[in-house]
Amino acid sequence: MTIHAAPATTLDSIKRSLVALRMPRALEVLDATLARIERGEIDGIAALDQLLIEELTVRESRRIKTALTLGRLTPVKTLVGFDFAFQPSLDRNRILALAELKFIDHAEVVHLLGPPGTGKSHLATALAVEAVKAGRSVYFSTLADIITSLATAEREGQLRQRLRYLSRAALLVVDEIGYLPVIQGGGNLFFQLVNARYEKGAMILTSNRGFAEWGDVFGDPVVATALLDRLLHHAVVIQIEGSSYRLRQHADLVPEHVRSKAHISPPPAPKRRGRPPGKQTDDQTTG
Ligand code: ADP
Ligand code: MG
Repeated sequence: MTIHAAPATTLDSIKRSLVALRMPRALEVLDATLARIERGEIDGIAALDQLLIEELTVRESRRIKTALTLGRLTPVKTLVGFDFAFQPSLDRNRILALAELKFIDHAEVVHLLGPPGTGKSHLATALAVEAVKAGRSVYFSTLADIITSLATAEREGQLRQRLRYLSRAALLVVDEIGYLPVIQGGGNLFFQLVNARYEKGAMILTSNRGFAEWGDVFGDPVVATALLDRLLHHAVVIQIEGSSYRLRQHADLVPEHVRSKAHISPPPAPKRRGRPPGKQTDDQTTG
């Protein structure tokens, strides 16, 4: 194959096709690729392969960048950037197993529990980034933002649409459950979202509070119980018991009661329904 000998019209035709097919990167490297063929550095088939890989690589990185922005996954955190040695209570293999993303296929709920600064948001983001790379749709938000947006939507008569929007992503990350008091009626709105996603879409939830405290967090023990009923069915609970990464350089300046490991009560035994017990994904271990 001697692309070298291709008449100008053929080359023009290729360029026009690349423009029409919206393959700007391939167009960009076309001349250099042809030059490499001329110099005998690669043959035609390798050149074609390289051209397509160039285009795909650029496209893929653009897709990931857009999805990270739309999913509000900024700043980007990665598993590679997580220092597991700093958090010995955390089982690295459990996190790496989650990074295989089967929990998304099974529409499971992952709870990341622990005191402030122990890497809950980092890990939630890193798992979500893995999901984006694998082509799954992801949306990241704090509980407070989700509830505010649902309350606004309700006021504007758009609640159904908003619930549908928040149910669309294959993975929804709800960060910071328990930091701020939930507004009046907020628990109810969040319950509607959880119910809409129940057994349909995966979630990662992060919290500095134990499940026993959810009545206080949501200001309503009935709503909290209903929430936990859904959120502990098909759930993985990962508890981090360690010190704050944020404060690691200033540990000596921080009072003991702040430094000490906050204790989080283990989850109540979930009600079984529908699926048979003993299913591996109903793993309720805390550790
Ligand atoms: P949390 O959500 O539990 O309060 P974050 O995940 O926000 O904590 O962590 C606080 C900061 O410390 C973030 O910048 C995060 O990237 C970083 N961080 C926390 N734990 C680790 C770790 N084990 N290795 C590297 N960075 C960490
Ligand atoms: Mg956080």
